[in-house]
Amino acid sequence: MQPEADLHTHSTASDGTLSPTELVRLAADVGLRCMALTDHDTTAGLAEALAAGKEFGVEVIPGCELSVDFKPGVMHILGLWIAPDSPHLNSVLLELRQSRHERNLRILQKLAEFGISIHYDELQAMVRDEKSSVGRPHIARAMMRLGIVPDVATAFRDYLGAGKKAYVPKTKLDPKKAVETLKADGATVVLAHPYSLSLSWEQTEQVLGELQSYGLDGLEAHYSLHSPDRTGQYLALAARLGLLVSGGSDFHGSVKPDISLGTGCSNLAISYELVAAMKKYRQANGLPISFSSM
Ligand code: AMP
Ligand code: FE
Ligand code: FE
Ligand code: ZN
Repeated sequence: MQPEADLHTHSTASDGTLSPTELVRLAADVGLRCMALTDHDTTAGLAEALAAGKEFGVEVIPGCELSVDFKPGVMHILGLWIAPDSPHLNSVLLELRQSRHERNLRILQKLAEFGISIHYDELQAMVRDEKSSVGRPHIARAMMRLGIVPDVATAFRDYLGAGKKAYVPKTKLDPKKAVETLKADGATVVLAHPYSLSLSWEQTEQVLGELQSYGLDGLEAHYSLHSPDRTGQYLALAARLGLLVSGGSDFHGSVKPDISLGTGCSNLAISYELVAAMKKYRQANGLPISFSSM
């Protein structure tokens, strides 16, 4: 099957390498009917992406991705169909970006102790604007430019990854607050890449139940790094719990060179039917399904 939708992507408004316009143009080029822009901790790329969607004939869903506090693995929450005017959400996102800024400065300090000198301006120059979010992938790219590492993966493996030489933990939202903040603004809330929770199936089901009690709507069953087996298990879980099914590649451009828009690691082909089911559910709940501009 030809992929029709990709509901998890990143642009230069966070740690992707394509601008929102370039990303939407690529979506059109690879034949996608619909894509969601889900940059980390920001809505900075959404207006541009929506405008590009009109220009290139792609349905663009405005979204974002939040990192939340969780152990033992990593929990990310996606908000889809974020309302254009979300003062509360935007104030929460601003705080997250401010704490990113402090964290990035501390990472740069640690790198300086290893004789690696990177100026913040160089990181800022990689993102779209001052409302974009800067993170470790930008630091990794600056390290590549200095010839310290051959690629982003090595920068994470040797310096930036959890517990490595220049690691500094990130301030994260409480899962309940993340879900409730997105829901309060009318978003459809989806648990991203559930494999990264690093839980057994039984524990995964338990955690999903808890998130549902806060308002979680869906599960990203289709994901670049999910095997067909795993995807099947998540689909069954979503059906059992009454969760919507979502899917996306987590495309980041050249910082994650193995992941392609739409097809992921070649195994992804998300049907528009998933989007249609989400839209039907939103309409049944009196929520808007299209935003012409932001
Ligand atoms: P940050 O938000 O600053 O903590 O950075 C996390 C981001 O780094 C994730 O969203 C990924 O895009 C990226 N990332 C994490 N681990 C790796 C890795 N091993 N290789 C490339 N990118 C990574
Ligand atoms: Fe990322
Ligand atoms: Fe993520
Ligand atoms: Zn992502």
